[in-house]
Order: sequence, then C-alpha cells, then structure tokens
Amino acid sequence: MKSPLKPPFNPTAKVPAAGPRPAFPVRLKPEAGVPSATKLVAASARSSGAAGKNDLKIPSKTAVPGGVGLDSQAVRARMVHKLAAQGVADAQVLAAMGRVERHRFVDTALANQAYEDTSLPIGLGQTISKPNVVARMLELLRQGAAGKLGRVLEIGTGCGYQAAVLSHLATEVYSIERLRGLHDKARENLRTLRLPNVHLLFADGMIGYAKGAPYAAIIAAAGGEAIPAAWIEQLAPGGRLVAPLQTAGGAQALVVVDKTSQGIRQTLLEAVHFVPLKSGTS
Ligand code: SAH
Repeated sequence: MKSPLKPPFNPTAKVPAAGPRPAFPVRLKPEAGVPSATKLVAASARSSGAAGKNDLKIPSKTAVPGGVGLDSQAVRARMVHKLAAQGVADAQVLAAMGRVERHRFVDTALANQAYEDTSLPIGLGQTISKPNVVARMLELLRQGAAGKLGRVLEIGTGCGYQAAVLSHLATEVYSIERLRGLHDKARENLRTLRLPNVHLLFADGMIGYAKGAPYAAIIAAAGGEAIPAAWIEQLAPGGRLVAPLQTAGGAQALVVVDKTSQGIRQTLLEAVHFVPLKSGTS
C-alpha cells in the first residue's frame, strides 16, 4: 500500500528531533473547544474542570494512598525485577516499564495494587492488562530490535498506560480507542507526561488508521474472532502484529503475525484473557 505521506515513509527510520511531523489529528472528529494539535506535549497541565462523570481520579505525586511511596522508582524497579525473573529479557522493554508510573493510570483506590502483577479495572467495563502481559507483548512486538521501532499502531488505548510505555520504544505511537470516555481519560492521563510522539484517536480500531500506515508494528489490547484485514494491510513489510485472538470454545490466545517477503506468517502462542474487540464507537 502506498503511504500518503511525503516523503515516502520508512517505518524503521527515526524521526529527526527537530524535523516537521505530519499533522495527524488527535481526534478523527475534532470537537469545538478541543485543540486540534496532535502533540500531547502542547497541552497544558491537567484541567480540573475537564473531568467527565466516568473519569477516574488519578493521585497526584503527593497524594498516593497509604504512603506506600508509589512515586519512588524503587517500587517500579521491584516490578521490573519481577518481570525479568518471570522471563522478560528485552532490556529496552524492562527499561520502558520502569519509566512509566502505572499508578497514575488507575483509580486512586487501586493505586496500591498498581505494581502488582494483576489486571485492574479502568472503567466502562474495561481493564488494564497486567504488567507481565504488557511486557510480554511488547517484547514480542520488538523482536529484539536494536533501536526503537518506527511507527506503531495500538488498538485499544484504554487508560493510556501501554501507549505511554510504547512511547519509549517507538518513534511514533498511534493509539485508537472506541469508547469516548476512555479516550478522554487517556488523553487526560497522558497530558502531564508530555509524550509528543503519542497520538490518540477516537475511532473504531478495526479499520486501523490508514493515514499513519504502513506501521512497523501493530498491537491490539482487545481480542476478536479474526485479525481484521485492515491491520494486515497497514502493516509494513517486515512488520509484526501482536494481538489476542479468539480460539475454539471462546478461549483466547496470543497471536503473532509477521508480514514477510514470503507472505503472512501467523503463530499462535499462550492463552490470554483480553476484553472483546468490538466494532463501532460509543
Ligand atoms: N492498552 C490498554 C488496555 C485497554 S483494554 C491500557 O493500557 O489501558 C482494551 C481496550 O480496547 C478497551 O478500552 C476497549 O474499549 C478497546 N477496544 C475494543 N474494541 C476496540 C476497537 N474496535 N477499536 C478501538 N478500541 C477498541
């Protein structure tokens, strides 16, 4: 597929720090009063008046419950050590997991569980995957690459946690969410982190995001009965897709799809439990 970007897009090339970025929208359908700038870094500090009724309260740096020191790097370092002991070997993935404060992405009441190896509710019936699953998928996605991935498409922004981790592993991250409440929440969560390479889109991720294609990698956090054809089309040659996929009897397994010069190669891996991939927006 020919990229609409000029000059032709090289998915493995690094984006020059000072160079122009293509102007993709944060939202596919901009709203009145919502800045159209693509870069979250352009947004000012979190606005207290912007919280919707479904928004979770994110603890501030000084208000972590129980005084458990969740801001301390040591807590994340412990999580990272545990991930390594569980078999995550990719140093870049471990470093990225160590950089992102997971407790900022979950409800205050759950913040003290944020670094445990457990999935947690993020509202609207959705969940943030457990750190071990996030790390495993990102490790698969990177295929042991020496440097950063190029453009990455994420389907299922949720609270934005994985997009934040991905921002340290890819030059650009395009993340799609079909639930407006979560899209807004992720935008709010990510705003203060100032990650200029994360672009959030409110849309049905089953059709991917053709304007950003081709992608060096695609990762889905929701599992359907089949891998949508659009995802395969939008994957760059040599690119890899990692997603949950429904298997016999309603179970789910992790699937890796490689777009090789010989064609599409699909590998089914271990059983997983992700929320369902749904079409349309809501
Ligand atoms: N990576 C996320 C996990 C979110 S859970 C995080 O770190 O929080 C999976 C998300 O996929 C849910 O928010 C769900 O609404 C979303 N989802 C399901 N089907 C989708 C689709 N077709 N397009 C975009 N998002 C979808």
